[in-house]
Amino acid sequence: MSVDSSGRRVRVTYPVTPPGDDDDRANAEHLTSSPRGELTERGSYSARGENVDFDRLSDEELVTAVMRLATSEREATSTLVRSLMEVDARRLYLRDGCSSLFAWCTEVVGLGEGAAYNRIEVARAGRRVPQLVDALEDGSLTLAAARVLAPHVTPANCADVIGQARHKSKREVERLVAALHPLPDAGWAFTHLSPGRVRLHVTISEATYDKLRRAQELLRHTMPEGDIEQILERAVTLLIADLERRRFAATEAPRGPRAARATSRHVPAAVRRAVWTRDGGQCAFVGGQSRCSARGFLEFHHRQPYAAGGATTADNLELRCRQHNQFEATLYFGENGADTVRELASSY
Ligand SMILES: [Zn+2]
Repeated sequence: MSVDSSGRRVRVTYPVTPPGDDDDRANAEHLTSSPRGELTERGSYSARGENVDFDRLSDEELVTAVMRLATSEREATSTLVRSLMEVDARRLYLRDGCSSLFAWCTEVVGLGEGAAYNRIEVARAGRRVPQLVDALEDGSLTLAAARVLAPHVTPANCADVIGQARHKSKREVERLVAALHPLPDAGWAFTHLSPGRVRLHVTISEATYDKLRRAQELLRHTMPEGDIEQILERAVTLLIADLERRRFAATEAPRGPRAARATSRHVPAAVRRAVWTRDGGQCAFVGGQSRCSARGFLEFHHRQPYAAGGATTADNLELRCRQHNQFEATLYFGENGADTVRELASSY
């Protein structure tokens, strides 16, 4: 029986698969939201339309119900992962205005970022090694453990590696993976810790380390703690300002009249700036209800294709991420024609 803050008995509805859940709550690194309970004044809960009155439920019955719900959740998760494998193969996220499966899962499906990341990593590995998803389904691997294994399993090693990882915690699986592949250099990675907070793991050279130490010394009077986060924030802010200033200040060498004509494929600097500013440095593809949020690797897209006589003017150009530029080329020219009409990178 649950009791709310005013002391009333309440009903809690357990979603079979809570949005944004994570199988490794103790670790909580990818936990972005928690299961939502629906509170009412009646003393029962419903799961799959079945009403249970906690007052009449014996301890044995309650434990049995929890076991059954946990099995349902595991089955729902593995079925969701298998379905994502298929959505990925069909690239169904593109038509909804998303440039990636991750964007689709978070923006359209409503999964939390950590939940989406885990499921997609396992789904992608599952296309190579179906045994990984089988182990998720039969309960011998948690989703968190399967995600840790995902980059390391191959058809050749999966029997051995999955065998060793069965019924192990995420941390134990991380140690197993480290033993499989000792990493002298950890590279870098982002880990989403909580809403608004991201951990950066990075391996740096001794020279970069010395520069960071030097920056700490120079900032000692304003940052007695020598906070690396603040140093990074200030350094990256300066770098971005410097790069943007260089790009917008760049003037092109004088060109002949041919290069500047609207019938040329060349996009003059003034047109680039106008399109970039108007579209806000973001892919302007709109699909379904939403606009694509991609800001990286943008290209200039001819609304009326250049090959079909479309002019190289600000009115006829829009920013596109690489995926949507290719997607629209495929729609217009078909699968084979699309490769021949890749448009210019925006160089921003
Ligand atoms: Zn896009």
